Amino acid sequence: MTCHEKMTRRDVMALLGGATAAGLGGCSRQSREDVIRVLDADAEDTDPVQVVRRPVPFAPSREISLLGYGGTRLPTRGRDKNNVDRELGAKLVDFAYRHGLNYFDTGWNYHEGNGERFWGATLSKYPRDSFFLSDKMCSWRLKKETDGPEMFAEQLKRCAVDYFDFYLCHSVGSYGAFQHSYLKLGTLDYMRKEKERGRIRHLGMSYHGQSKDLPRILDEYPECEVCILLVNAYEGRRNPDNLKMRDILRERKVAIVVMEPLAGGRLSTMHGRARELLKDAASGDTPAKWGYRYAASQPGVMSILTGMGHFAYVRENVRTLSTRDFRPFTEAEAAVYEKAVAAFMEVPTIACTGCRYCTPCPYGVPIPDLFAWYNKLALTGLPPEGDAPDAQRKRRDALVSYFNEFSEGHRAHNCIGCRKCMAACPQWTLRIPDELTKLAAFVGKTRDAYLAAGGRLHGKGPLPC
Ligand code: SF4
Ligand code: SF4
Repeated sequence: MTCHEKMTRRDVMALLGGATAAGLGGCSRQSREDVIRVLDADAEDTDPVQVVRRPVPFAPSREISLLGYGGTRLPTRGRDKNNVDRELGAKLVDFAYRHGLNYFDTGWNYHEGNGERFWGATLSKYPRDSFFLSDKMCSWRLKKETDGPEMFAEQLKRCAVDYFDFYLCHSVGSYGAFQHSYLKLGTLDYMRKEKERGRIRHLGMSYHGQSKDLPRILDEYPECEVCILLVNAYEGRRNPDNLKMRDILRERKVAIVVMEPLAGGRLSTMHGRARELLKDAASGDTPAKWGYRYAASQPGVMSILTGMGHFAYVRENVRTLSTRDFRPFTEAEAAVYEKAVAAFMEVPTIACTGCRYCTPCPYGVPIPDLFAWYNKLALTGLPPEGDAPDAQRKRRDALVSYFNEFSEGHRAHNCIGCRKCMAACPQWTLRIPDELTKLAAFVGKTRDAYLAAGGRLHGKGPLPC
C-alpha cells in the first residue's frame, strides 16, 4: 500500500498490530509514515470513543478532559530533541482533540521554546473557547522585576493566543524560592494584574516541594486554583509526604492536576509478582491502565497530564480514560494495586518497556535486550554477595547467559554515552547510558567474584568491567 492509498479500518488495525501503548509491552515499532497514514485514516472515521470530562471545580460551567496533553515530550525529528515534528505532532493533537481531549499544557522551556510555538501553530485552527491552554512562568529565569512581564508577553506571542486559561508558577520547590521569585520581585502581583486584565483566566502552580511549605505558600497565594503535583502509587509509597500534599490541596480546594501518573514510566513495567497480582484481579487491564485509573480515582484530581510523543501512547491513553473504558477504582482494586506496587518496589529493575524506539544504537548496543536480560535476572534472583551456598552457581549462570546472549561487540560496555538513544526513549527518567554503565559494572563485579571464589571461565572472550 502506498502512502496515497486509502486505508480501511482493518488495515489500520493490522498496522497497529494490536499495539498497546508503548510502556505496556509488545508495542510494535511503526515508522513515522505509517503513523501518519493511520492518523489520516482515523480522521475520516467516526470512532465514538471520547475522553471523560469533568467539571472544572472553579468554573463549573465548563468541562475539562480527564486526560491532558503534556507538552514536555512532543514528537521530534532527527537527533535534536528540540526539533519538534510539527506535522506529526499536529496530527496526534488532532486525534486527541477529535476524541474529546481539550486540555493542553506547555512551559517556557519545553523543547527550548519550540513547545510553545508548536501549540501556537497547532491550536490556532480550533475555536479558542473549545480548549484549555496552560502555560507557566519559568521560575528559575526570574532574576529581576522585568523578567516576568517580558516572559509573559513572549509566551502569548509564541502560543498565538490572547489569554491563557491556566497560568502557573513553574516548579515551585520551597517557600524561600517562591518568596524570592514571586513575592520579592513582584511577579505574583504582575500575574494578578494580568488576571484582572483577562489575559490569565486562572492562576496556579506546579509544586515540587515539601508539605511543610505548602500551607505558607497557599496563604500568600490564595488565588491559586490549580496545582500540578506528582500523583502515583510509587511516589505515594516512596515519599509519604506526597500524600500529605494531596490532602492539603484538597482541604484548600485547589484542583489537582496529576503529573507523572506512571512515575516516569516505571509503573508501566510492572513485572513478576506485581504483574501476577494485577492479573489475578481479572480486570484485564495492563499495568499502565492500572496506573492511570489509580491517578484518576484520587479525590480532588481534575485531570491527568502526560507527555505523548508517540501515537501508541495517545491512542491507549485516550481509550483508558474514555467514557467507554474508564472505571474508577473499587476499594478492592485499590488494595490490589497498592499491594502490587509494593511488590514491584521490592525488586529494583530497569524501567525499560521494550518498545525499541531507541534502536538501533549506532554503536551496536542492543539496549532493550540488555535491559531485558538484567530484569529477568533481577526477578529470578541476582547472585548473592559472599559465600552463600548457591552464590557461585548463580554467578556462573549469570555470566554464561550474558556471554552466550551478547557477543563482544554487543555488550553493555560498548556504550560510549553519546545519548542518542535518550532522545528517542519515552521513559524520561531512564538514563540509558548510566544504566548500561551500571550493568557492565555488575557483570564485571560478578566475574571478579566468580573468579576470586575459584571459578573458571573458558573461551568466553574478554570480560567487561
Ligand atoms: S548512549 Fe550508548 S546506548 Fe545510547 S545510543 Fe549512545 S552508545 Fe548507544
Ligand atoms: S530504553 Fe529503548 S526499549 Fe527501553 S523504554 Fe527506552 S526506548 Fe523503549
